[in-house]
Amino acid sequence: MYLLPKARSTIPTLQRPLPSRPICRKPSLLLPRIPHRSLGIPPQYLLDDYTPRYQLLTSIEASKKRSQAYAHLANCNLCPRRCGVNRYETTGMCLIGAETAKVNVIAPHRGEEPCIQGFHGSGSVFFSGCNLRCVFCQNHDIAHQRNGFDLTPTELAEWYMKLQVTGNVHNINLVTPEHVVPQVVLSILDARDMGLRIPIIYNSSAFDSLDSLRLLNGLVDIYLPDFKVWKASSSKRLLKAVDYVETAMESVKEMHAQVGDLSFTSDGIAQRGVLLRHLVMPGMEDEGRDIMRWLAENVSQDLYVHIMEQYHPDAHVGKKRRTTRRRTDSGQEEEAKEEVRYAEINRAVRDEELMSVKDAAIEAGLWRFCEVNEKSMFHL
Ligand code: SF4
Repeated sequence: MYLLPKARSTIPTLQRPLPSRPICRKPSLLLPRIPHRSLGIPPQYLLDDYTPRYQLLTSIEASKKRSQAYAHLANCNLCPRRCGVNRYETTGMCLIGAETAKVNVIAPHRGEEPCIQGFHGSGSVFFSGCNLRCVFCQNHDIAHQRNGFDLTPTELAEWYMKLQVTGNVHNINLVTPEHVVPQVVLSILDARDMGLRIPIIYNSSAFDSLDSLRLLNGLVDIYLPDFKVWKASSSKRLLKAVDYVETAMESVKEMHAQVGDLSFTSDGIAQRGVLLRHLVMPGMEDEGRDIMRWLAENVSQDLYVHIMEQYHPDAHVGKKRRTTRRRTDSGQEEEAKEEVRYAEINRAVRDEELMSVKDAAIEAGLWRFCEVNEKSMFHL
């Protein structure tokens, strides 16, 4: 568990020990018994109540968003791939058309951060397809193979309502939505008319364009970007995108400008703001440290950060190379030794690599980290 830096140690929290005895002796006037929890929300990030941003749009603003969504589909430059195709007639790199979005799983999900999954789960919608091609992707069957079923925006909205009403989830969590932003925008507007009233989470790789983030402004409550790597050589080799780093920097700044630092209601559930993730990669802790420094200097020292340790080799990593032939120094051909692909990241992350990123984050002035403490309670 991290301690707050000294400069912040005077900020009061909501952690108060329970009184050992009731203050009032009259049984009918006993104070309600509050269970003791490790819950401490700095007051500036504590909300009395919360109304999702999409509920605050005027009908004129909502109509404008609809028109913009349709226009983008007809000339799609919505993500940094900038294919410029008419998605009503063909598809771009993401291989997804205009009328529907392909969805793999819709379900209450309890594998997210405690402040996102809460008590009843996060209403997760896993979109198939992706605009990145990460060689280590841990959802590659969904992201790269486009398994799933097609849903129109209205059908998506009906699923959001089911998650809210039947699943009693805390939010709608749109996972890997960068390539279906127009469909997502239309679905949120439909769901608003149907009575949706829980926050919308945009859970992305940070490989978003400013155009699509501006289209989402006013509709998304929580941005959950994953800042993956820092070096251009890494993004080219491991994500198959040369401009990932500049794009992620621009995207995270725009997300933070829209919704600010992460805020919670008193039950510990996040309602609005940015929750930034970074998955520490084996042998790449120097990139993680640079990302932490950049975030503190250019976005906010109060940014809520989840430094993740659960990397494991997947997708193309560790797979055997096809056997190849090569010419030796003497000019003879021989079979190349069998190697695995992306051998440099074909292992788990070491504790010291993880700690070096966490230490760099603290040194840079970041202090709001997502962790589950030993008692599985919230640490906010
Ligand atoms: S969303 Fe798809 S079609 Fe549009 S620019 Fe990105 S990859 Fe190309």
